[in-house]
Amino acid sequence: MKKRRNLSGYFLFWRRLLQLGIVLLLVSPAAGFTFFRGNLISATLFGFPLHDPLATIDYFLAGKILLLSFLSGTFLVLVVYWIFGGRSFCSWICPYHLISEMFLPLHRFFRRPKPGFSSSQRYGFLGGFLLMSLILSVPVFESVSPVAAASQLFQSLAESGFSNQSVTDGTGLASILNVWFSGSGILLWFVLFLISIEVFVKPGWWCHGVCPVGTFYSLLGKISPLKITIKHNACDNCGECFKVCPVSQVLIAPVQGTANRVIDSICTQCGNCIDSCPTRALNFGFQFNRQENTDVISSH
Ligand code: SF4
Ligand code: SF4
Repeated sequence: MKKRRNLSGYFLFWRRLLQLGIVLLLVSPAAGFTFFRGNLISATLFGFPLHDPLATIDYFLAGKILLLSFLSGTFLVLVVYWIFGGRSFCSWICPYHLISEMFLPLHRFFRRPKPGFSSSQRYGFLGGFLLMSLILSVPVFESVSPVAAASQLFQSLAESGFSNQSVTDGTGLASILNVWFSGSGILLWFVLFLISIEVFVKPGWWCHGVCPVGTFYSLLGKISPLKITIKHNACDNCGECFKVCPVSQVLIAPVQGTANRVIDSICTQCGNCIDSCPTRALNFGFQFNRQENTDVISSH
């Protein structure tokens, strides 16, 4: 009989901690700290430039000019997400994904089907946004990006909260509420609009279907060495991992025994499946040998 264990929230704990850290980083300039400037599209951290690779491409297509100053910051970000799996950005860093996850209990309450976008549809959205930037000479996705909107939303709320008015005397609180109806309010309503589609129509439709950032990072994830791996002799097909995975189709091959890891790079590296697995069959693992999968497939 396979050894079972109590469910753990290990990776969820560390993920929430990092997500909270990212929000604190975003709002730190409003609190008077100077080590971080910018947002998740373009920033400096302790003087090091960091640029979102998709934004670099988007601005290049729109402006028809490659800013060399962007390249080192872009390369650094690419290396980090190559190591940790492209879509780890989505589940560990993205502030929009964090807000979206806060509404997960409502998704479950309304029992909407999980997103069912094919990879060609996702690549179509990514290509469409980039093509529009090229034709219109405007960085189209960056202009409507929920990643940027959610970042700016946290920053606007912090700036209101840390303004010279005090929250405790009520005037600071009033200024926070004013955000609902100010320029920043547009960001808030935009994020809420996207979330409401998630809740009432299709959970994860933005993050796991339309978002060009997620699709771009999934391309990088194809060559990332970090994967969810499985010990087939420990798995008893209980199905717990499928219940918590936001893109559960990626688990079919490993759980059915036709792959020794999650191959589909739409996996967000969230670790939910590892936390939920009662037999410890799943884990993170670095695998540089892409041949290993075919060995497993041919042995079944
Ligand atoms: S396979 Fe695991 S790590 Fe990947 S998205 Fe699903 S639950 Fe998250
Ligand atoms: S890998 Fe999934 S199906 Fe297999 S034991 Fe773990 S939770 Fe159950």
